[in-house]
Order: sequence, then structure tokens, then C-alpha cells
Amino acid sequence: MDGVTDTGPAVVFERVNRHFGAYHALRDIDLTVARGEKIVVCGPSGSGKSTLIRCINHLVAPQSGRLAVCGIAARDGRDAVRRIRDRVGMCFQHFNLYPHLSVLDNCTLSPVHTYRVPRAKARATALEYLARVGMEDQAGKYPAQLSGGQQQRAAIARSLCMKPQIMLFDEPTSALDPESVGEVLGVMADLSQAGMTMIVVTHEMGFAREVADRIVFMDAGRIVEIAPPDDFFDNPQHERSRRFLERVA
Ligand code: ADP
Ligand code: MG
Repeated sequence: MDGVTDTGPAVVFERVNRHFGAYHALRDIDLTVARGEKIVVCGPSGSGKSTLIRCINHLVAPQSGRLAVCGIAARDGRDAVRRIRDRVGMCFQHFNLYPHLSVLDNCTLSPVHTYRVPRAKARATALEYLARVGMEDQAGKYPAQLSGGQQQRAAIARSLCMKPQIMLFDEPTSALDPESVGEVLGVMADLSQAGMTMIVVTHEMGFAREVADRIVFMDAGRIVEIAPPDDFFDNPQHERSRRFLERVA
């Protein structure tokens, strides 16, 4: 959208720290995410997972260290945060679709109003992404007429309409009924197959094992362990990882 050719790592954290008042929520975070890589972030509640991924699109600002997203750091000029957000899509636990807009209008709102994409082109793009998540036949419905899984798939399609280079997911299936969980994880696995760079906070360890290139395990604001899934699940290196896995597996 601003014509920059994007090469190099998707995300680089170097000794990033974040406090909330006296509470040290991120401690010396070092993490490099390659283009196309799939990272699953796991760890106990309150360990800093949401804070970590919210730093990537600057919903939370790091207070020290260096963070670059697609080669752009927030301090690289006045519009740097906007340029970062142009490249990063995010999907939360609670599908934040606009309730008063149809699925299709949810998907075209930002492209048309923020990016001045012609309406017909935005609609065509939206229908293409809705088809990818199996929602093309629901395009005219309102969020309240959809199941939780359908809403979450629509929210993913809406993010994809912005043509992000990186997708962040923060517990995207935690609020869903068990039947919907699988359909949303399926859409995420397809997205992963298509080559998207993904950073996913989830407790779905089956998904993590199948889709992740690396697992990032956090505890008390630190990254305790980073390992490929087979190593992490079969041979965790840290006592804290072992204790966590005993509880979730
Ligand atoms: P997780 O996602 O792993 O459950 P979070 O990143 O949400 O953990 O939170 C880590 C810690 O930081 C928690 O103790 C939480 O209460 C605190 N925290 C997160 N966001 C804020 C905020 N905006 N203001 C104050 N404290 C916060
Ligand atoms: Mg969280």
C-alpha cells in the first residue's frame, strides 16, 4: 500500500520490555519470526502472550528494546505505526464484527473507506476471501444470524481483505462451542498452507503440533522456551514447560 518491497524477517523483537505500572509484563523478549513462519505462543494465563502479540501491531507500545515489523520500527517516522498496521491483520477471541453491517459490508468497510478501493473491486475481493473461509453463501447475513464459528471465519475473511502480510490470532477459538472450534482451526490451517506468516496464541495443542514451525512458551513475561513442536511436546527442556504440558495435554 505504500509501495515498499518487503523482504527480511517478518518480525524482530530485541530485548523488548513492557511494564504496566509496577508490573513487568514483558521481560527482555528476543524473537525473530521469518516470512511465512507459523508461531504458536502458549503459556499460563497472565504470562504475557496477548501483550506480546499486541506489541506487533502497536496496540501495546514496547517501552524499551527494538521491535521491527516487516522492517519497520514504530520510531521510523510519523506514519510508521500506520504502515505496520497496513501489514498486520488481527483476529481476537471475540469476533469484533460490526453488528449493524452484513458480513459483506464488514469485509468491504475498511478497504472502501480507508483505502479508497472502488466498491465493486472491494466486493469482489471480499467474496473471494469469504469463499476461502467457506462463507460466500452467508455474505448477506448479519453477525447475529451466524454461529460463533461462522462469525469468526467472517472476521478472518475481513482481515484478509486488507491483504496483510502477517496474521495475528489471540485465542481465536476460546469463546467457541466445540463444534465451531474445528471449523475455525481448519480455516487457519488452510491459511497456513497458503504461506501466510502467522503468530497464534492458542491452547489448541493439536493445532500447534500440526501447524506451528515453532512453539514459543511464555511464563511470567519471559520466553522460557522456543522449539519445534515435536521437541517441545515430546521433550520440553524446562520444568515450567513440563508442568504446563501436563495440565493442557
Ligand atoms: P496472557 O495473554 O498470557 O494471559 P496478558 O499479556 O494479557 O497475558 O497479560 C500479562 C499481564 O499483564 C497480566 O498480569 C495482565 O493483568 C497485565 N496487563 C495486560 N494488559 C494490561 C493493561 N492494559 N493494563 C494493566 N495491566 C495489564
Ligand atoms: Mg491473553
